Amino acid sequence: MITVMKFGGTSVGSPEALRRVAGIVSNTEGERIVVASAMSGVTNFLVSVVESDKIDIESVKEQFANKHLTAAEKLFEGEAMEAFMAEFDGRMAGFEKAVMADRSDPYYKDCVVSQGERFSTLLLAHVLKGMGIDARAMTSEDAGVVAEGHPLNGSANLPKTEAEMGMRVRPLLSMGVLPVITGYYGITPDGRPLTFGRGGSDYAAAVVANAIGADMLEIWTDVDGFMSADPRIVPDAKKIDEMNFGEAAELAYFGAKVLHPRTIEPVRMRHIPLKVRNSFKPEEPGTLIHHLRKPKNDLLRSVAAKTDLSIITISSAEMAYRPAMVAKLIEMVAAADAIIYSISTSLSTVAFLVSSTDVKTTLRQINSIEGYDIEKIDVKSGVALICAVGDNLLDKCGVCGDIFSAVKEADANVEMISEGASEVSLNFVVPMGKVVDVVKILHSKYMS
Ligand code: ADP
Ligand code: ASP
Ligand code: MG
Repeated sequence: MITVMKFGGTSVGSPEALRRVAGIVSNTEGERIVVASAMSGVTNFLVSVVESDKIDIESVKEQFANKHLTAAEKLFEGEAMEAFMAEFDGRMAGFEKAVMADRSDPYYKDCVVSQGERFSTLLLAHVLKGMGIDARAMTSEDAGVVAEGHPLNGSANLPKTEAEMGMRVRPLLSMGVLPVITGYYGITPDGRPLTFGRGGSDYAAAVVANAIGADMLEIWTDVDGFMSADPRIVPDAKKIDEMNFGEAAELAYFGAKVLHPRTIEPVRMRHIPLKVRNSFKPEEPGTLIHHLRKPKNDLLRSVAAKTDLSIITISSAEMAYRPAMVAKLIEMVAAADAIIYSISTSLSTVAFLVSSTDVKTTLRQINSIEGYDIEKIDVKSGVALICAVGDNLLDKCGVCGDIFSAVKEADANVEMISEGASEVSLNFVVPMGKVVDVVKILHSKYMS
């Protein structure tokens, strides 16, 4: 039995949390691989460093080192501290080199913002060692997590990662070593760190589970499991005991921050069940996400919201009779590397829902189209997409009516609808200012 255990930022965010997590790991039977995020606040700090105009390296180094040394001083003494410091100093040299590198390099930011994981894993590995466990801190380079794609938005190369980890990690497991691997990033074919987007340690852990053929992936976080809504918006959100991969994947993709949007696929394809659990309450069973789940016939089970989106509407007379034009428009959105969260067409318009950060490049691409008479392009920014997941949602008469009556109660306009594309969810777009009200009303009517 191999379990991959991922611990998030708050779960490794203090000496007490690190000790608690080490206890959870040591109480888990069988072979284990740990994947950890940076200590909470550290990645945000590193993002602020790479975004600043001028970097004061001495101050950056001091703040970064202090954060980890303060924790180390509470966790280790004597020889244990010396062993930690021997590795810490080497990694601090790498940290300075990363921050001082050429800022115009396309992967500069990836290399700096992924530094936090190198230190949290070091702390955790040494706490585990102190408990008599043969733990080894491994970077994604050491472990062979292979990534490809654009800066700050990488994807894992699963076959290559499997081959690399087969050589670098599997033999360690057979020797009884417990690898503690950095989350958040992988390594490009030319050896550069490439991050998987914010919150990417969940995805990194799913990739590790896929590559090693794990029997279970555990995502340990700071809430009791996957909930019926974001508990920061709906304080009385309920924990869901069991979910399908499909339900969890849709909700994560459409904004449920508890899982990185791409966490599900690497485990789903290998039938590896996933549990979301609370590292502050290890006695709680959490949420089990797997292939099959008996429908409970809940009208709605969970609701998520993806904010900061925009609708780009392109008009041209009788566009529907020129399918090549619609195809060309989609091609141009793809050329802008923008994810289309929803699409809708009419006789003379096609509308795309994209992230607001992608609007500029998408418009540039669309404006470069020649040979078609685009009459008008409208952009409606400041909208959000709400994703409502329920049992057999599409088979139920009147579900849309029920859901939209809640939207009406919030005095919100539905700007766009996507129904029928997914078997488990109903998605619709509302103005950003109405998101909280709509989620709260939907939850109180159908989920509490
Ligand atoms: P970690 O650092 O462990 O990865 P995150 O902050 O990334 O933790 O994700 C956990 C947080 O996700 C929770 O604290 C909660 O506020 C938020 N969240 C949003 N939607 C949900 C949901 N449907 N279920 C549980 N938590 C959610
Ligand atoms: N440390 C990274 C972040 O804050 C990755 C993660 O926590 O999953 O985005
Ligand atoms: Mg997270």
